[in-house]
Amino acid sequence: MIILMTLNREDYLLVIWEFLESFDRISEKELANRLRISPPTAYEYLTKLSEEGLIKKDGKKISFTTVGRNTARELVRMHRIAEVFAYNFLEIPWEETHASVMELEHIFSGKRGEILFKNLGKPETCPHGNPIDPEVRYKEVPLMLADDGQYTVKRVVFEDEALLKNLASINALPGTLLNVHRGDTLEVDNENGTLKVPHTVSMSLRLSR
Ligand SMILES: [Zn+2]
Repeated sequence: MIILMTLNREDYLLVIWEFLESFDRISEKELANRLRISPPTAYEYLTKLSEEGLIKKDGKKISFTTVGRNTARELVRMHRIAEVFAYNFLEIPWEETHASVMELEHIFSGKRGEILFKNLGKPETCPHGNPIDPEVRYKEVPLMLADDGQYTVKRVVFEDEALLKNLASINALPGTLLNVHRGDTLEVDNENGTLKVPHTVSMSLRLSR
């Protein structure tokens, strides 16, 4: 996961979206772990977002308000467009694209962002396979729930840096074939090598037949 000295409001909303898309739920503790910030810092920020009417806190469960969801959707969309730009034109490595655009996406917003999107040829996905329109849902299975067998890598929803790095090391990019082996540990392989995938990120890697 990206580590920024100062995480801003947009970064939080983006991470919350990714979390909900990957795991269907998010708690304060998980958010703090993922962002490698202290639970009090996460608590403070989430309280702020909730006071601004962007999220709802129901006990430990966090969800978006309508306004928050609309704001986050636009941020996620711009983030993914900026990733296409960084990957295709700045030659940023696949596994670093997510972290590299945390700054760029703030520059490419609104009208400028739409012009960029048009000039990129209106891509359908980010380099990690996630839909530019964040509401699009695919027919896919999370690695966590996949049976043994051969699949095509569809996308990496929660763009965890370690997971991206590992996948890149065997060139398991979206569109490539990957075999799943369930045993004591969850393993995937292709002709370039084998990876053990920790349980915690296995919901993030989405596969299709
Ligand atoms: Zn991406």
